[in-house]
Amino acid sequence: MHTLKPVITYRHGSVADADLTLNCILDLIVEGTWDWNGKTGEVLRSPGWFRMLGYAEGSFKRDVFTWENIIHPDDYARVMENFERYTSGKAGEYCIDYRCKKVDGSYLWITDRAVVVEYDQEGRVSRMIGAHQDIHERKLAQQELIEQNRLLKAGNVTLERQLSRKAEELEIRNSELQQKIAEVERISNTDSLTGIANRKKFEEELIREKARSDRYHHPLSMAILDIDHFKRVNDTRGHKTGDIVLKNLADFVAANIREIDFFARWGGEEFVLIFPDVTLEGAVRATDKLRQLISEHEMMPGLKMTCSFGVTQYQPGDNIEQLFARIDNALYRAKHEGRNRVVKLDCQQEKP
Ligand code: GH3
Ligand code: MG
Ligand code: MG
Repeated sequence: MHTLKPVITYRHGSVADADLTLNCILDLIVEGTWDWNGKTGEVLRSPGWFRMLGYAEGSFKRDVFTWENIIHPDDYARVMENFERYTSGKAGEYCIDYRCKKVDGSYLWITDRAVVVEYDQEGRVSRMIGAHQDIHERKLAQQELIEQNRLLKAGNVTLERQLSRKAEELEIRNSELQQKIAEVERISNTDSLTGIANRKKFEEELIREKARSDRYHHPLSMAILDIDHFKRVNDTRGHKTGDIVLKNLADFVAANIREIDFFARWGGEEFVLIFPDVTLEGAVRATDKLRQLISEHEMMPGLKMTCSFGVTQYQPGDNIEQLFARIDNALYRAKHEGRNRVVKLDCQQEKP
């Protein structure tokens, strides 16, 4: 069998000698000890016990009440319950953390651990020895960690809530932004007076149709429409009436072209048309029909207007400038030839 051999073997000549050794060791290994005599009610406390709390050694009455008086009020009930549970045999050990009042009035966290060393004949505790350990730093660090953890959790929850709120706000802002973008786009493509497409939109559309015509080898025609003697309307009826006429004409033309035809205000009293998938002859027919209808239409009570048209067909290889030059040329001829007419110009005719 293995027997444990102590490294140091004490040989005491007297009980006092043995007591000295024990007290020295206790003073070294624990921060404070107490020894309660249940029969006399006396409590002996080690110098370390006093030192730990900052009191002068032996400055307390040697009873349990002085101990009870230094227990933190918030810990008192818990300490007493533990103590009684142990001394009554309901609990197997007595080991509890609580706060003790120091000499400066502040409180120190300690662990109090004790064992019953003697019972009287009636089975009541007659002697108990305990030790105090300073756990203040550890306890504070632990409490700080718990608090930080709590804040972290609360923070996470708040953060999640904030994030989801932000996401909702962002979605709303995003859809508002989309609406604004669509609105800005609509405004930037629309002529404010007539509500039809403007010059910018027309140019974009023409580039698109030109590419489509190249891709599918479909014919593509375009026309310019200029109101005849429009200045007279302004001069005789005022600029406001001129505006109404422009608006009415735009509505009238829009209502009398095909769905796939594109119609825009070029500027002033000039409008442009794109006829996808239509030859020059087809475009002449369409514009001439339009010319006829306009001339018969009352722009406002008692006011009829006529228009002149310049028409051309896109030829592969034409650039936008060439197309515009041709319709402009054709329009010029239409005016020159007496107005209220359609003049066509193909790419051959354009050349000198
Ligand atoms: P022509 O038959 O030769 O085309 O004669 P016209 O009077 O139509 O042509 P001209 O270029 O001499 O005059 C065009 C007029 O259109 C002059 C200008 O004040 C007017 N005008 C241009 N834009 C607007 C507008 O937005 N509103 C109004 N009321 N008038 C406009
Ligand atoms: Mg003009
Ligand atoms: Mg005009």
